[in-house]
Amino acid sequence: MKIEILTIFPDFFRGPLDYGIVRRAREAGLAEIEVHDLRAFAHDRHRTVDDRPFGGGEGMVLKPEPIFECIEALQLAPREQRPSAKQSVILLSAQGRRFDQGVAAELAALEQIVLICGRYEGVDERVAEHLADLELSIGDYVLSGGELGAAVIVDTVTRLIPGAVGNEASTRQESFTTPVAVPAGDGPSSTCESGGLLDYPHYTRPADFRGMAVPEVLISGNHEEIRRWRRGTALRKTLRNRPDLLDRVALNDEDRQLLARITGEDI
Ligand code: SAM
Repeated sequence: MKIEILTIFPDFFRGPLDYGIVRRAREAGLAEIEVHDLRAFAHDRHRTVDDRPFGGGEGMVLKPEPIFECIEALQLAPREQRPSAKQSVILLSAQGRRFDQGVAAELAALEQIVLICGRYEGVDERVAEHLADLELSIGDYVLSGGELGAAVIVDTVTRLIPGAVGNEASTRQESFTTPVAVPAGDGPSSTCESGGLLDYPHYTRPADFRGMAVPEVLISGNHEEIRRWRRGTALRKTLRNRPDLLDRVALNDEDRQLLARITGEDI
């Protein structure tokens, strides 16, 4: 997958793209990430990329010309053919569709994504109207710029590229992840997919840390009991922290029984 990032602060990405899974995916050639400096597409002596807003008001607005020219230099398919070319031009914006694990999975299936980072009061609206395929927000809050959002999207999408995470089963078991067909015999039977819930709790050695013992079932060696405990604790945590998710996931009979037991208790 190719990921292009358009920004007026290219140095911002020196850190976020150089660690862990993203770095390994780049080194393995699974993700090719290129950062483009929008100032390189400004033509005046001061390499101006912003201007005052028409109609008056606070702050500055990113000009359309450098953004259009940078996208043109990438030689993407024409806008209407981008879905079939598996390309998408995305404008980071607080006004966009909310980015989540489902959107990340959609993007991970593409061949090329372009992330346009806004700054100041935002980006000239003609970019959203005539150039971008999608506006994405990483949450209901306002950042100073799209760079942090782009880094979040790159990280989330990259770990979904097949081969990027050593054990692929682990990405299927994570929070928010909706089920996909699982190859037979894949993974120990004590694990369970989140199925769109939050993940179950994880523990490692020591078994007793300052008097805080790990749940006994996890050292019992009984895979079926461990799987049931994990499902129950995932349901409990989801009910406590994100009850909205329970309306969106398909619960089976076992889930309903576990939930009935949990809600009978104090959560
Ligand atoms: N005036 C804009 C508004 O009220 O929606 C906020 C502009 S913000 C200060 C500057 C840039 O940060 C935006 O153009 C966008 O690229 C980025 N940004 C801010 N919040 C974001 C969010 N929640 N998700 C993604 N990008 C965001």
